Amino acid sequence: MELKDQAIIVTGGASGIGREACFALARMGADIVVADFNAEGAAKVAEEVQALGVAAHSFQVDVSVAQEVEALVDFTVERLGTLNGLFNNAGIGLVKPFLEMDPASYLKVIEVDQHSVYYGMYYGAKKMVELGTKGTFVNTASIYGSVASRGNFNYNAAKAAVIAMTRSGALELAEHGIRVVGIAPGYIDTPILGTDKGVKDQLAAQHMHKELIAPEKVASVAAYLFTDAAQAINGSTVPVDDGFLAFKE
Ligand code: NAD
Repeated sequence: MELKDQAIIVTGGASGIGREACFALARMGADIVVADFNAEGAAKVAEEVQALGVAAHSFQVDVSVAQEVEALVDFTVERLGTLNGLFNNAGIGLVKPFLEMDPASYLKVIEVDQHSVYYGMYYGAKKMVELGTKGTFVNTASIYGSVASRGNFNYNAAKAAVIAMTRSGALELAEHGIRVVGIAPGYIDTPILGTDKGVKDQLAAQHMHKELIAPEKVASVAAYLFTDAAQAINGSTVPVDDGFLAFKE
């Protein structure tokens, strides 16, 4: 129970990687706020997390709106009494060829996938410094923060920024006892990938095991990164990609 009584916020907690991270963190003893745009989904996950014997609450948030993320941080301290970490994980994709990547489509993904991580770190760190608590931010980037992917100009830009903000945040927050680390998932079997079997098979083939990665396998790495056992990992982004970035055939 390495995270016993630690208060951790998980954004995008209603589905996919975030949902599994809520369970993984709770099994390690952490108290959780399940934060998501999808209020009903978040409430259901919070109920399932409570059944694991820890405190859990849900909170409806649009992570692309600064004031809503600030309110999420305040809610967490109000309900759980403290704050020890944030899994800045909520994200979307909006795929379009570059010549159709109009400003609205570009900005939508930058706001949800990139600005949200800044808001989480900014309001989270200010609160932790005020409370005098130590802790960890884990930010969800992507393999596509390091290599380009067609139709993903917005997503590539946002996820590269998440990798950069992870480094930069870690540098400035270390003196406050706050670590910042990233994860870069490969293709994970979650609703974000859609339902087309042909497309999913093609994506699966890009990993060493020729399978999509189960969200539980990303969640277990994310949860580990919150623990003291991972204390020497700071400022870097860990690939959780079954070798996606390591080979080309
Ligand atoms: P998912 O669609 O299953 O879950 C994403 C969750 O984020 C949903 O519950 C959704 O409601 C929530 N969300 C979306 N926009 C939001 C907003 N503005 N405010 C609050 N909540 C919002 O997807 P997932 O695969 O679990 O994705 C989680 C993260 O992992 C994302 O950042 C995604 O970019 C990243 N990622 C996913 C993959 C993959 O292949 N699935 C690969 C690399 C990175």
